Amino acid sequence: MKAMVLERAGPIENQPLKLREVEPPRMGRFDALMEVKACGVCGTDLSIVEGRFKPPRLPIVPGHEAIGRVLAVGEDASGLVREGDLIGAYWVHSSCGSCDYCLTGREQLCLERRVNGLDNDGCYAEQMVVDARYAVKIPSGLSPEEAAPFMCAGLTAYRSIKLSGAEPGRRIGVIGVGGLGSFAIQIAKLRGARVTAISRSSVKLEMARRLGADETVPEDEASKMAGEFDSVVLLAPFPKLVEVGMRLLRKGGSMIVAANLDEVPNMPYRSTLASERCVRSVSVGGRQELKELLGLAGSGALRPIPVEPMPLEEANEALLRVKRGDVIGRVVLRP
Ligand SMILES: [Zn+2]
Ligand SMILES: [Zn+2]
Repeated sequence: MKAMVLERAGPIENQPLKLREVEPPRMGRFDALMEVKACGVCGTDLSIVEGRFKPPRLPIVPGHEAIGRVLAVGEDASGLVREGDLIGAYWVHSSCGSCDYCLTGREQLCLERRVNGLDNDGCYAEQMVVDARYAVKIPSGLSPEEAAPFMCAGLTAYRSIKLSGAEPGRRIGVIGVGGLGSFAIQIAKLRGARVTAISRSSVKLEMARRLGADETVPEDEASKMAGEFDSVVLLAPFPKLVEVGMRLLRKGGSMIVAANLDEVPNMPYRSTLASERCVRSVSVGGRQELKELLGLAGSGALRPIPVEPMPLEEANEALLRVKRGDVIGRVVLRP
């Protein structure tokens, strides 16, 4: 089968993924083999390909927003998925199943968890093996391309908004209106919060209004709202925005950092963290949360974000566009 393979990490400008003909993946007893129909391109893929996240082995096939049709089912996975099902796989390939994290729906934090596209070959390929215990069924109203971004962007936004405590009477700021932000605004509105979207881009602020944001504010004017928010969710990967967001919090407020930052810069204590404000990071989400999220999509309450399909062979070009920030919604690869 064809796959885009990472053999040596490096800057995406140097085309580190190679198109290769590789052996089809082998299945274990709890696994399902799927024909990949769509594969979302996530900022974390770029971090893996460029070497900021190091895979334990190379070569590896990246990709963790995987949607595919089941081709074959392992001997102990027959009660979980069936041949022909449209299923999705997310960040967690598998986990221990018995630790405190696994037992409380936070398997993404399990010390023994394996990650798709990092520890196990992911979906930048024609076929992929998933652990059927961690696969989810895709609601019939979603196409594979529409479903792919739910697996990571949607799930991370869902957990971020849950941790923000969004509910009626609470005011939530969302910084960054890309793929994650498009989900986050809708989810915060579904929970009844008052939502303010903050972005540098007037095009993205217009999109935020269409998605239901109560108000939109250009990033350079955000400081006018200092001290007004119960929670601010940071989805844009720029370290300086942590302080920008912290200054918007009222006393006791929480800053939720879902962006994949390389550092957190020094901040003056009294105008940011003091008075019981806190900062909390978000790591994707668990599969129970993913099922809740897909339930919202299946009922029509949550709309898919815009997607732009590209052929699998153009994965390097897709990652380059992610690096430039030149994507509205999500790029989705089609093998
Ligand atoms: Zn991701
Ligand atoms: Zn565990």
